Amino acid sequence: MRRTPLSTTLEDYEVWFVTGSQDLYGDETLRQVAEQSQRVVEGLAGLPVRVVWKPVLKDPASIRRLALEANGHDHVIGLIAWMHTFSPAKMWIAGLDALQKPLLHLHTQANLELPWAEIDFDFMNLNQAAHGDREFGYIQTRLGVARKTVVGHVSNPAVLQQVENWQRAAAGWAASRSLKLARFGDNMRYVAVTEGDKTEAELRFGVQVNTWGVNDLADAVSAAATSDVDQLITEYVELYDVAAELLPGGDRHRSLRDAAGIEVGLRSFLEDGGFGAFTTSFEDLGALTQLPGLAVQRLMAEGYGFGAEGDWKTALLVRIASAMGSGLPGGASLMEDYTYDLVPGDERILGAHMLEVSPSLTTAKPRLEVHPLGIGGKDDPARLVFTADPGPALVVAMTDMRDRFRLVANVVENVEAPDLPKLPVGRAIWKPQPDFATSAACWLTAGAAHHTVMTTAVGLDVFRDFAEIAQTELVTIDAATTLRQFRQELRWNQAYYRLAQGL
Ligand code: MN
Repeated sequence: MRRTPLSTTLEDYEVWFVTGSQDLYGDETLRQVAEQSQRVVEGLAGLPVRVVWKPVLKDPASIRRLALEANGHDHVIGLIAWMHTFSPAKMWIAGLDALQKPLLHLHTQANLELPWAEIDFDFMNLNQAAHGDREFGYIQTRLGVARKTVVGHVSNPAVLQQVENWQRAAAGWAASRSLKLARFGDNMRYVAVTEGDKTEAELRFGVQVNTWGVNDLADAVSAAATSDVDQLITEYVELYDVAAELLPGGDRHRSLRDAAGIEVGLRSFLEDGGFGAFTTSFEDLGALTQLPGLAVQRLMAEGYGFGAEGDWKTALLVRIASAMGSGLPGGASLMEDYTYDLVPGDERILGAHMLEVSPSLTTAKPRLEVHPLGIGGKDDPARLVFTADPGPALVVAMTDMRDRFRLVANVVENVEAPDLPKLPVGRAIWKPQPDFATSAACWLTAGAAHHTVMTTAVGLDVFRDFAEIAQTELVTIDAATTLRQFRQELRWNQAYYRLAQGL
């Protein structure tokens, strides 16, 4: 069986570092500008995405040329800009107007401390980002350029963390811009929140969302080679605590072989089509013998986006969150707010799905079991059973508000699970910030969905940077949120996003 890695990892990407100046200063100063900006780039060397130094920019034509060049390379996922000296900002108009990549404005300085005893006006002329970057800030704001602004010296870990967050957001954006998403069947009948404007999504996020008949998938599954199924069974036995009845020779081994066949077929369909995300629908399983559970769980853990019941918007979020969390502990998964423990002061949310929760949320060895599924009318599906590790997490939903997409994010804490002997699914139990009642009231007021991506790899800051890059509304529920202020923010946003679109 072929197994092609889903996508580029962060090591395959780069961001370009551009330094602005002008010819006014003379060769000696410009040589120092170049040398010192290379040292700033060296200070960024430990980041997950490689930062590539570019020659100092001094005139409008070369600035525009560099922007066009960056646009032309898929592996260049963003630009970091710094005005070491004064770079008159009208020189940047054509370049910023042409730039189609995420931009980070690094407001830094070559030196950390001022050499008070030696400082002279040559030093002042060389080290004038304090006003050079203000000129650059003005033109970015005047042109309405979306960007992240980071302030401080590159020796400061807080500065590096902010640049890393932006790099991760830019990687999520690159993943979204190149994403092909396959829907097997349509949305669950009568459900509102999983609907959405697929044409608008392709314009906003770059994702191509298209539908295939589920029997196209069933054909790929029936074409699964016995040797590939055998190979997967061996892998399952190595990786998971497999129920005895599912093992070779066990009473229900057939169920596991069927699940492995679904994985082989689904994987080949996705690889052949170049898809990085997909949806299924339990109402539309065609000739499939089981609702895909195990296969979906394993593909999500490899970084594929997935949404259940035709929910392509959540599938997109899962793929984006996976890309942004690349290389970090934890993972990203479809999640659904299912049911509550409402004991006052100790409220908890139990999240799960019918089957499809990614084992990337646990470091424990999942159990592989087969059980009946109350809906769908198919054979009992195999599934991985586990609880998400305790620790910080984020849930994010995307809804279609008719004139735009809205992201809603809640900072939560996954907690230890009580014994759940009769609930054999992947699940997570969490406490939301700032408290259960405020979180749920805000969530409902925002019209946010019951399906989310849960990520345990990246936090709110990365999603904020993503939303800025994507120019998409993001409302957040965290420790500082109050319902009153949140409701006001929704009203202001309603006006702002309509005005920002123009008439
Ligand atoms: Mn669901």
